Amino acid sequence: MEEIKKMSMFKDIPVDVGVIYEGQRIRRNDMQVEFGGPSVKEKFELAKVKPMDEIEDGKVTIIGPDIKDLKEGGSYPLGILVEAAGATLDQSLEGVIERRIHGYLNYIEGVMHLNQRYDIWIRLSKKSFQKGLTSLEPIGKVLCRLFKSELPIIEKVQVTFITDPAKVSELYPEAMQAYESRDAKARGLKDEEADKFYGCTLCQSFAPTHVCVITPQRYSNCGAISWFDAKASSSIDPKGPVFAIDKGQLINAEKGEYSGVDEAVRKRSMGEVNRVWLYTAFGSPHTSCGCFEAVAFYIPEVDGLGIVNRSFKGAAVNGLPFSTLADSTAGGRQVDGFHGLSIEYMRSQKFLSADGGWNRVVWLPKEVKERVKDFIPADLVDKIATEENATSVDALKSFLKDKNHPVVARWAAEEAPAVPAAPAEAEAVEVKEEAAGTMMPVATAASLPITAGGFKIILKDAKIYANKVIIQTVKSDTDKR
Ligand code: SF4
Repeated sequence: MEEIKKMSMFKDIPVDVGVIYEGQRIRRNDMQVEFGGPSVKEKFELAKVKPMDEIEDGKVTIIGPDIKDLKEGGSYPLGILVEAAGATLDQSLEGVIERRIHGYLNYIEGVMHLNQRYDIWIRLSKKSFQKGLTSLEPIGKVLCRLFKSELPIIEKVQVTFITDPAKVSELYPEAMQAYESRDAKARGLKDEEADKFYGCTLCQSFAPTHVCVITPQRYSNCGAISWFDAKASSSIDPKGPVFAIDKGQLINAEKGEYSGVDEAVRKRSMGEVNRVWLYTAFGSPHTSCGCFEAVAFYIPEVDGLGIVNRSFKGAAVNGLPFSTLADSTAGGRQVDGFHGLSIEYMRSQKFLSADGGWNRVVWLPKEVKERVKDFIPADLVDKIATEENATSVDALKSFLKDKNHPVVARWAAEEAPAVPAAPAEAEAVEVKEEAAGTMMPVATAASLPITAGGFKIILKDAKIYANKVIIQTVKSDTDKR
């Protein structure tokens, strides 16, 4: 990909195109317009494999107003349809083609693409608009050219952008149906039966230490790549972001730890992550990038897990919105008790199985509950609260007690008075040193990334000392996801 920016294939594009733009952030004040995102209900991107004679190679169609026709600073609906053909291309590759839209759009200077499928969020910068990126047409041309040069299995490709709100609404159910049938096809195979797992590092442009481990029963965080998609992707593009993982030895069946997974993640995260437990939100959970569809979060007051998805408006039961909970887990980190995940993973028998699976889930938005209802054990469905049953932890506690949710049995066990432990020798020494006036760190972190001068520096087991700490309130950031 490094060569892309040197190629002449983008000479007619008004802005630069290259891997250096991957991971670019466009703040609200710097954006010309945005498509999709949290304030737009209907948006989608969809790839379709078609017969050769139905594709006009390189054609870009825009249905509805173009960038230059839209009011600066506005948010608009968008559908992106990528239709491809090739002698050896079949429908099993649609998911693979679709997920590349994310990477390729992010190569364009001043274009930021986040998330996937029905959750897309695209911002175009004012700077690139002023440079001449005033139409979706050159963006479509870049997509067509990158698809053909990066995935030679594609012989013909055409791209359609739909900005007409009525047309987006018309096609939206079709896109949702396509995602569902793709997901349904991937259900059935068990992790124990698979000869290999797959990994994906596509999101490292935004979360440099993140590695998705994709197994038959643990769908990717973004919900856009199944085990079958990953298998197909690694076979047609072995040097691409999706790669095969030899499972190695099963170290812990309950938590889902495999020696091959640990090794692959260690290597691909540059030594940052050494161990991954696939089926739990605690201890060494799977890392979370930033484009996960939902977050599972621990609620200590009830010893249960809540789940909130990206499109849920308002605060989750613990008073925090999705954006805050997502910030607490995103960035390629392993955060004990927080877990970025896909909706499809919630349909898996391995869904947080080491934590109790659905027996441990106490709250989730109604919309998500409806979507996964058929996969929740029947006797539990009414015991799991939604925003209609509880909007605070106190209300949740009463609800769970009334319904006799399985977590209630855990409370009794935990209420037994604990005998305070005597301080260990090492702790006693530390207290003594503090009393003697030793300077204490003002911040500690197992891993603290700093970006400066074009380099990324990771401080491991960092302790920061300061003579003075100044705490200031900052303006609320409406741009945070
Ligand atoms: S969430 Fe995971 S599978 Fe999806 S694009 Fe990112 S790294 Fe790949």
